[in-house]
Amino acid sequence: MSDKIRVRYAPSPTGHLHIGNARTAIFNWLFARHNGGEFIIRIEDTDLARNIEDGERSQLDNLKWLGLDWDEAPDKPNAKYAPYRQSERKDSYQVYIDELLAKGLAYKSYKTSEQLTAEREAQQAAKQAPHYVYEYEGLTNEEREAKYAEFEAQGLKPVVRFRVDDDKVYAWDDIVKGRIEIGAKEVGGDWVIQKADGMPTYNFAVVVDDHLMEISHVLRGDDHVSNTPKQMMIYEALGWDVPKFGHMALIINAETGKKLSKRDNNVLQFVEQYRELGYQPQAMVNFIGLLGWSPVGEDEIFSLQEFVEMFDEKRLTKANAKFDQKKLEWINNQWMRRDKEKVMPQLINELVQAGLVSEADAVAKADWLAKVIEVAGVDGISYTKEIVELARKPFFELSDITPDMVEWLTSDEGRAVFNAWEARYAALPADAKAADYMDVIRSIQTDLEVKGRPLWNPIRIATTHEVQGPNLPEMLELFDKDQVLATMAAVREQYLN
Ligand code: GLU
Repeated sequence: MSDKIRVRYAPSPTGHLHIGNARTAIFNWLFARHNGGEFIIRIEDTDLARNIEDGERSQLDNLKWLGLDWDEAPDKPNAKYAPYRQSERKDSYQVYIDELLAKGLAYKSYKTSEQLTAEREAQQAAKQAPHYVYEYEGLTNEEREAKYAEFEAQGLKPVVRFRVDDDKVYAWDDIVKGRIEIGAKEVGGDWVIQKADGMPTYNFAVVVDDHLMEISHVLRGDDHVSNTPKQMMIYEALGWDVPKFGHMALIINAETGKKLSKRDNNVLQFVEQYRELGYQPQAMVNFIGLLGWSPVGEDEIFSLQEFVEMFDEKRLTKANAKFDQKKLEWINNQWMRRDKEKVMPQLINELVQAGLVSEADAVAKADWLAKVIEVAGVDGISYTKEIVELARKPFFELSDITPDMVEWLTSDEGRAVFNAWEARYAALPADAKAADYMDVIRSIQTDLEVKGRPLWNPIRIATTHEVQGPNLPEMLELFDKDQVLATMAAVREQYLN
C-alpha cells in the first residue's frame, strides 16, 4: 500500500442522503482534504432489489449541495481504479472468489433455506448461539468436489461461504474507539461471500474494492464494527494489508436518548428535507460536522473551510453524538444572519413559491421585498420557508377584523385615536419615514392623553387588521400610502360611520 491517504464514501443507493451517511461523507472528505489525500465515491449497489431508481443521483446531488467535491467517482473515473459501481465490478470479485475456493479457504454451499431454518431452530431449541454448521466436515477436497457435482446434478445453486477459524481473534486499533478485539466465533460461523445470483456480499466486495482502490483509511458508522472482523478475515486470506479503521460515534435522538432511527417520525433525517425547507448548506455542514467531532475551544460556528483547517481525526468523539434539531435551527439562523445578502434571493423566492409575489415583482421590487423580509422578522427564523407566514399578513394579505378588534375601534378612546390618526396620516408625504410615523403617533399620545394598547391598537387595526406584529412605524414606511388610505376608509365605512 502506498502512503497516500485515500478514503472513500461508499453509499448504497437504497435511499436518499441520510444525516448519518452525510456525516460519513463529510468526515471522510475533511480527513482527505486536511491531509492532502484523495476522496473517492464508490456506489455499493450489489443489493439490486434494494436499489432505488434515483438513489445514486440524489446522493451525489446532495453531497455537491453540501459543498463536497470528489477526486474519483462514477462520474469522474480514474482508469487505474474504475469502475466505481460494485455492480460493474463483478469480474474483479470473481477472481478472488476463485482464489479462495482454490485455496480451500472458501467453499460452495448448497443448503436450502429450509435446511438452514431447521438448523437454526435446532440450535435455538438446544439454547446454542446461532452458528453455521459446516456440511463437509472430515471430507477431503476431492470428496467435497464430488458432493458439489451431486448437488449440481439436483439442480441446486450454490452460495460461496468463507471458512471461519473460530479460534482466531481479530483486533485493530480503531481511530475513534481505540483497541477493539473480536473473537472469530462471534461472527456466527462460515459466512456467505457470494450469493446464489453471483453477486458478492457487502463484506466481501468492500474488501476487494478497498484493496484494489488502495484505500488507506476507512471511516464509517459505528454499526460497521461487527462487520470488521469478517472483512479482516478476507484481508488475511488474500494476504493483503488492512486499512486503518475508524468507527464514528452512534448518532442518538436528543429527545429520546435512543439511537436515531428512521422510524423517529418527529425528526427530519434526510438532507433533502432540510434543503426543501430552506436550510443553508453551510449550516447543515456546520451542524453535521459537530456530530461526533469536537473542536478545540467553545466556538460552534464553522465554515467548511475552517473545518478543513482544524480537522483532526483524534478529536472524533467516543461518546454518542446527539442529534438535536433545536441546535440545527440555531446554527441555521446564525448562518442566515451571516450570509444575509446571499440568502435574500432565496427568501424572496419563498414568497414567489407561496404565491405572494409574482416572478416579475420579485425582480422589480427586490429592494422593497428585502426590507419587508427584514421588518417581518427574518432574524428570528430558523429556515427560509418560515418567512412566508411572517410576511404574509399584513404585507400581502389582510386578516379579517375580529369582534375584539371592533371593540378597540369603537370605544370612545378608539374612535378619537382613529380619527386623529386618519387625518394626520393623510397629511404626511407618501415617502414619510418610520420616524415621521412615530412622531405622529407620539403627537396623538400627547394630544389625546392615551398611551399603550388604547393608543396603538386602533392605529394598528386601522392599518394592518392586526393587534400585534412587527414594529408598526417600520411597517408603515414600507406600505403603499394609497392602499393604507383605502384600508382605513374601508374600516371607517364598516365600523365607524
Ligand atoms: N455501503 C455501506 C453503507 O452504506 C458502506 C460501509 C463501509 O463504509 O464499509 O453502510
